[in-house]
Amino acid sequence: MNLADSGVLGAILDSRGYNRAEKEEDADIIILNTCSVREKAETRVLGRLAELSHLKETADKKIVVVGCMAQRMGDRLLSRAPCVDLVLGTDRIFDLPKFIENGTSFPAVRTETGLEEPADVIPARNNRHTAFVTISRGCDNYCSYCIVPYVRGRERSYPVSRILKQIKALVTDGVIEITLLGQNVNSYRDDGIDFPELLKKAASDTDIQRIRFMTSHPKDMSDRLVEMIKSEPKMMSHVHLPLQSGSDRILKMMGRKYTYGHYLTLVDKLRRAVPDISLTTDLIVGFPSETEEEFRMTLDAVNGVRFDSAFMFRYSVREGTSAAGFDDDVPEEEKINRLNELINLQKNVAYEKNQDEVGRIRSVLVDGFSRRSDNFLKGKTEGNKTVLFAGGTDMIGRVQRVKIISADSWTLHGELMV
Ligand code: SAH
Ligand code: SF4
Repeated sequence: MNLADSGVLGAILDSRGYNRAEKEEDADIIILNTCSVREKAETRVLGRLAELSHLKETADKKIVVVGCMAQRMGDRLLSRAPCVDLVLGTDRIFDLPKFIENGTSFPAVRTETGLEEPADVIPARNNRHTAFVTISRGCDNYCSYCIVPYVRGRERSYPVSRILKQIKALVTDGVIEITLLGQNVNSYRDDGIDFPELLKKAASDTDIQRIRFMTSHPKDMSDRLVEMIKSEPKMMSHVHLPLQSGSDRILKMMGRKYTYGHYLTLVDKLRRAVPDISLTTDLIVGFPSETEEEFRMTLDAVNGVRFDSAFMFRYSVREGTSAAGFDDDVPEEEKINRLNELINLQKNVAYEKNQDEVGRIRSVLVDGFSRRSDNFLKGKTEGNKTVLFAGGTDMIGRVQRVKIISADSWTLHGELMV
């Protein structure tokens, strides 16, 4: 979501005649778009600000902090990092040029809510052929550990017409694949149109070739969504379905509103519908009161479901959330041990899952050259896996048929089918 917001802000600044600097030293304005989901993300921003503060000693620069941490800390950010000139919360981010151009006296902090995101912006992006399309903002789920509803506000869905218009404009701009974004796309609703219906319209009313979405909350993933993924050829075969924990007691304390059994039913439905669908997830270890046995349930879930990949985190207390009232009683060292064990297991599972890819022919959207070598192109399969294969510049931005010949835990290697 932050990447998507940065893309929109980048486009707004481009359209007003700002230029991108290659290095911080050359910039008049340095913008940090921030995350608050874990303490570590915030610590990193404070570290970055300490480094950047030196740049201000020798040159006149403005340092701007936008996004979740700006929203959460407001004025407090100025006292923690005196080099900051402007703090813009999650709903003020797109007003940045106004504050810069209208003679604001710095330092300034703006965290009022009520977002006016311009409807007709084509987001700036690193990759010409893929783009994010935000379909809803905020979240109403209030999972007990999570800061998102507090910093990004209540959930609101964008109108269908606006989303379709944006997709059409992106197609004209060369985009082949979009990822529809919301904290929980499954609760999207506009004037009686729900998420599966929105997908249907995006597929039928626009010329976009490939559609993905993120994130889907397991408590309200519908059979109609599963059916859409199965029957609509434009839908890519990947679902990111955050499980968080394999223990029902922990899931309950997390306020996730589903059981592991329900999660398995969804996995079963998805795999029946699309047998080789990629399933990815988010997992948290060391939630308050999580026992060794409950942690083992998460390991069992990884072994049982066999995720293609997972984002794995140590629980991090977020001030103001309801879990902040629980005793954070799993020692840090134990959290680290659990996380390492989980990461190792998932790495092996991913390796094995990726071996299933060997011998298959995949449709790969090529997005450029491999970072390591100009002899290899890099692209994504329908299941969102990275593939490297030998090919030429003319293939960038096109969907190519590639046969997978080998795989490790993170990457597939293939050869072009002619
Ligand atoms: N809306 C998305 C999640 C956004 S946050 C969803 O519900 O799936 C991304 C991930 O960060 C979460 O899925 C969770 O695994 C992790 N996360 C959120 N708050 C956290 C916390 N306090 N400590 C550790 N991990 C956390
Ligand atoms: Fe956070 Fe839960 Fe909302 Fe995801 S669904 S953003 S984890 S509160």
